[in-house]
Amino acid sequence: MKALIIGSGLMGVTSAYFLSRGGWEVTVLDRQDGPGQETSFANGSLLTPSMPEPWNAPGSWRVLLKSLGRSDSPLKLRLKALPQLSGWGAGFVRNSSPSRFALNTVRNLRLALYSMEVLGNLRRETGIEYGGASRGSLRLIRDPQTLERALEWAQRLRAEGLIFRRLTPDEIVAREPVLAPIGGQLAGGIYYPVDEIGNACKFCVGLTELARRGGVEFRFRTPVTGIEVRQGSVTAVLSGDSRFTADRYVVAAGSYSPLLLKRLGLDVPVRPAKGYSLTFESPRLDPPFRLPVCDDDFHAVVVPLEGAIRVAGTAEFTGYDLSLPQARIRNLLRLVRQVLPSAGLERGQATPWCGLRPMSVDGVPIIGPTPIGNLWLNTGHGHLGWTLAAGSGKLLSDLLTGDSPRVDPDAYALARFAGPLAGRWTGRDG
Ligand SMILES: Cc1cc2nc3c(=O)[nH]c(=O)nc-3n(C[C@H](O)[C@H](O)[C@H](O)COP(=O)(O)OP(=O)(O)OC[C@H]3O[C@@H](n4cnc5c(N)ncnc54)[C@H](O)[C@@H]3O)c2cc1C
Repeated sequence: MKALIIGSGLMGVTSAYFLSRGGWEVTVLDRQDGPGQETSFANGSLLTPSMPEPWNAPGSWRVLLKSLGRSDSPLKLRLKALPQLSGWGAGFVRNSSPSRFALNTVRNLRLALYSMEVLGNLRRETGIEYGGASRGSLRLIRDPQTLERALEWAQRLRAEGLIFRRLTPDEIVAREPVLAPIGGQLAGGIYYPVDEIGNACKFCVGLTELARRGGVEFRFRTPVTGIEVRQGSVTAVLSGDSRFTADRYVVAAGSYSPLLLKRLGLDVPVRPAKGYSLTFESPRLDPPFRLPVCDDDFHAVVVPLEGAIRVAGTAEFTGYDLSLPQARIRNLLRLVRQVLPSAGLERGQATPWCGLRPMSVDGVPIIGPTPIGNLWLNTGHGHLGWTLAAGSGKLLSDLLTGDSPRVDPDAYALARFAGPLAGRWTGRDG
């Protein structure tokens, strides 16, 4: 059987690798020069089953509304994005009820834990190297009540497999001495031993090479300009004058997936949520920085990555805008200096980057078939794409190959959406 995959980010590359291992003949198309060049390029580098919560936590829509007109809000809605978000926004609010939020958190956690297992196996079997480290992560919390709430919530997730340990400020500093200057500001924290770090782009490049050796064909600089549908099935994917055909087609085009699918009359509830990172090469830190940190108050992660420090965070609903405004960069610089005041980090050392998280309306990825017979999806991973990538690629491959998946596929299926956002297909040929 032949599969054609659109996209060579984390989802496209993992799907290609596992499908090829399952005996499929696979071709991957991407408009970029190589794999992992868009949202999978310089993300926060954290693999965090410890943070499975969707962003539509109860009350988050109020934070979004308040952010209109503020330039420093970590979660930000821009007026110009409102038209694109109208129906999606209503779904975002609907999914922020306490019961939906809890259900969606558990769905992400199950896939995240499975993903860590798949990634571990992949490392052992292939020796793939991507600057990874399995030391766990630290969550820092300044307010005592927030700490108690976070521990209560973690306790609920323990039944689903979350492993964590409460830490006092002294224990935090003992684990990560670089945090000594801010130890006095903390109410405490949580250590999550299962979390890992790794360079997502390097992983995409490494897995592409392994997949290529296994027979996968990658065609870069190949922008997909259309998907041809006849009588309810895809008959070809088009790139300019070229036509690519297969038995099954997989859209793994990140935030651009809904744009490709909209032309077919398929409304997939995914919208871009922009985020930023700054990477500081060769920071001078003694003792060295070893443990990735998530700072609750600053809504940012600070990660030691292959001798560099990366800070990532903020979410803006601002459409497909990929500009790098100085105000957002200054904001991240201010945050990282507050977490690592002794590092002496300067703007001149930092490489800024931004990417568009493919955010599904309920904060859970969309993996599996569509109403168009042979068209499949692996998209909508939002802020958790690196954490969920290996498990998502394996789930998609198991479903296509007919193997029994290890996680419940219904939890990630497009068909879970009810009502007008239901991945509806209007029956149009495209
Ligand atoms: C600031 C930031 C920090 C993040 N931090 C973390 C983190 O710490 N941990 C975590 O788990 N996740 C994190 N994420 C999320 C994670 O990076 C994404 O969920 C993930 O990269 C999405 O992968 P993808 O393959 O779906 O999309 P992409 O990586 O964007 O891949 C899509 C591919 O499709 C191609 N494509 C699109 N349209 C077309 C077309 N028409 N024709 C041909 N090719 C096309 C693109 O070129 C691209 O290569 C972060 C994201 C951001 C922005």
